[in-house]
Amino acid sequence: RSFEIATAPLEADRRRGALVVLRDLTDQLRVAQMRVDFIANASHELRTPLATVLGFIETLQGPARNDAVARERFLTIMRDQSLRMKRLIDDLLSLSRIEGRAHHAPSAPVDLVDVARQITGALRPMATDAGVDIRLAAPAEPVIVPGDRDELLRVVENLVENAVKYGDGGKRVAITVTTRAAPDEPRREGAAKPEAGGEDAGQAASAAPSEAVIEVRDFGAGIPAEHVPRLTERFYRVDAQASRGKGGSGLGLAIVKHIVNRHRGRLHVESVPGEGATFRVVLPLADASHAG
Ligand code: ADP
Repeated sequence: RSFEIATAPLEADRRRGALVVLRDLTDQLRVAQMRVDFIANASHELRTPLATVLGFIETLQGPARNDAVARERFLTIMRDQSLRMKRLIDDLLSLSRIEGRAHHAPSAPVDLVDVARQITGALRPMATDAGVDIRLAAPAEPVIVPGDRDELLRVVENLVENAVKYGDGGKRVAITVTTRAAPDEPRREGAAKPEAGGEDAGQAASAAPSEAVIEVRDFGAGIPAEHVPRLTERFYRVDAQASRGKGGSGLGLAIVKHIVNRHRGRLHVESVPGEGATFRVVLPLADASHAG
């Protein structure tokens, strides 16, 4: 542990002494280190595609100046790398915007069924291109949570995109929206860290529903257990090469975690390697406080 030691001479009533103040700096140092790591990671993530783009510009101005075929190919690569940089910058901005928002929970009524439908529709073409079938199972009536619609769209979009990207081989992504009574376990403060292991949703089946659950499940390679607790760290990836190759910024789940936290929700991750992964977001229902 690190301590800051401040001393001051003390001279009162002709008695001599010293005042020693010990302040634990461990947390401050950890935060400072995280900031340094974050900037180093972000710079590295931007530098790599930028170096590629610069390299191809030089080639196009030099040896490949009159090669029409090479020009087309290089321009495509340069566009892809530029899009990667743009996505990263957009994600960095989203993250800082969400972090900078006031700490009170967003409270506009948002229909989670509608959110899930919108994302399912928007991502279906991309999923179909990847040979993945997206299915949505949701109640016919709305499931209203207090929240910010754009942020909740972002949560579901990130989770479904990941399921399509990393669930390769599974050929199927299942999205479900349900409501349930809160399990008996006590709520943990700021518990949007991914938690391995399941919850017993059926525990309090007879009580009135107080929580909405949106679940995104894929049937791909899954996530080895040792990685699960770190998934929502910025730039944390199970396989960095694969993530970058799929256009990932490494910030998607960090953004999801922040939004879920702001909504007083929880994020659970369950995965059996080889069988797939399930990401479950639990949010308080709009009328939960009046439900008794
Ligand atoms: P990325 O931009 O790399 O997708 P995320 O923060 O969204 O960043 O995800 C972090 C990492 O978590 C990914 O790089 C991937 O290794 C892993 N991951 C996320 N979703 C899944 C999933 N459905 N199946 C397997 N691995 C996943």
